Amino acid sequence: MTNTELIKQHIYTGLEKLHTCRTGMDIHATNLIDFCPREFALCKQMNLLYNDEERVTGNRIITFKVGTAVEGVILEAIKVADVSAKIDPFYLNITSDIQVIGTPDGAMYLDRPEIPYIIELKTTGKDEIETMVSPYINHCCQIALYLWLAEIRKAPFVYDVGYVIYISKLEKKEQMKVYEVQRNDAFIARVREQLLAVKTFSKTGELPPRICNSPIALMARTQCRIPKLCFG
Ligand code: SF4
Repeated sequence: MTNTELIKQHIYTGLEKLHTCRTGMDIHATNLIDFCPREFALCKQMNLLYNDEERVTGNRIITFKVGTAVEGVILEAIKVADVSAKIDPFYLNITSDIQVIGTPDGAMYLDRPEIPYIIELKTTGKDEIETMVSPYINHCCQIALYLWLAEIRKAPFVYDVGYVIYISKLEKKEQMKVYEVQRNDAFIARVREQLLAVKTFSKTGELPPRICNSPIALMARTQCRIPKLCFG
């Protein structure tokens, strides 16, 4: 192997070691955006990890790390502007061994001097930032989940509204877009029902009902890791 090939090989090896995949049985706020309680229950019943992300390869790791680095720059800027507030992950116990974890990117002091707002940072590529007219629905759900978790933990944050901030990784006329996101009680009511189904399963062993009507339903095909187990 030549030195130029060795350089690439070493970098890709290092990147793969740098990248950590999410594994385990915790339910993360992002899992709840399109959550199937039956999928979680079946994983638990069969001793499969609910979070068992596919290993990603070098090029995707670079994109991911660049996004994280850009978000770090924005968080640093907020700190230097002296408006950042400390924010720790929110934990919610569903049973003694099942918990929900919400980890917002940050929090900022704005018009309410003592109470910070939750913020979530998202990086975009190409021309997305210039054509964007509204936040993505899954990011609004993510904010709604953080607001709910903050409220039930009685954490000192504003509960009715948060912000999603999109930042372009490339230099653009408009490098940043900020959207206000309201709490979403209807979505949270659905999430609460789904978590109740998980709790019932944990107590009684009763599997939550299917949310897909066939193994070729959209969610079964595109999101679910265990459609064969569910319909088998
Ligand atoms: S196939 Fe559908 S209903 Fe069955 S576990 Fe997966 S997401 Fe849930």
